[in-house]
Amino acid sequence: MAEISWDLFEQQVEACRLCGLCGHIQHKVPGQGDRKAPLMLIGEGPGQVEDEQGLAFVGPAGQLLTRMLEAIQLPRERVYICNIVKCRPPNNRVPTPEEAEACKIHLRMQTWLVRPKVIVLLGSTAAKAVLDPEIRITRERGRWQERKGTWIMPTYHPSALLRDPAKKVQAWEDMKSLRGKLIELGLYPDLYAPAQDLNLE
Ligand code: SF4
Repeated sequence: MAEISWDLFEQQVEACRLCGLCGHIQHKVPGQGDRKAPLMLIGEGPGQVEDEQGLAFVGPAGQLLTRMLEAIQLPRERVYICNIVKCRPPNNRVPTPEEAEACKIHLRMQTWLVRPKVIVLLGSTAAKAVLDPEIRITRERGRWQERKGTWIMPTYHPSALLRDPAKKVQAWEDMKSLRGKLIELGLYPDLYAPAQDLNLE
């Protein structure tokens, strides 16, 4: 068996035809960011801008995500960002469970390579694919669970916040919780001094 590496990951994503989504795209969108980041963010799938550029979270939702990270003093280039599916679903529809399942082979390799200590699942599709197919994001968002030494929290997808700004209050609670978890685990020590004031109001 070939040794798992970023080169192998990129080759496998580029060559992948495991589901029908690849038939409609301009570019694969494997994900990008700090490949040694303690924090990994996983969204649903590429949108139009992402498909055009081959980069994850660069459209309006991605710009909001960047601002949300900046609000907890976390530069976006210090995290790793990817999606459940690496090909854009037609008309931005939600990926089917079968498509999400097919693409998990890439997500597993990616997670193995990054080895994040904390994972944030952005939106229902990511939460269902990673945690539980029956999960309800409105009920479970903001709740942490540990799996094999990795802390995982689902929250709203930034595109949901663009559609319904009222959700931003809860999303901000989740971002503060994320910051608290990173501090608790001693991650990003150059950004978060141990005795740093947690009052973000
Ligand atoms: S979405 Fe994933 S599984 Fe489907 S073709 Fe694209 S890379 Fe392969």
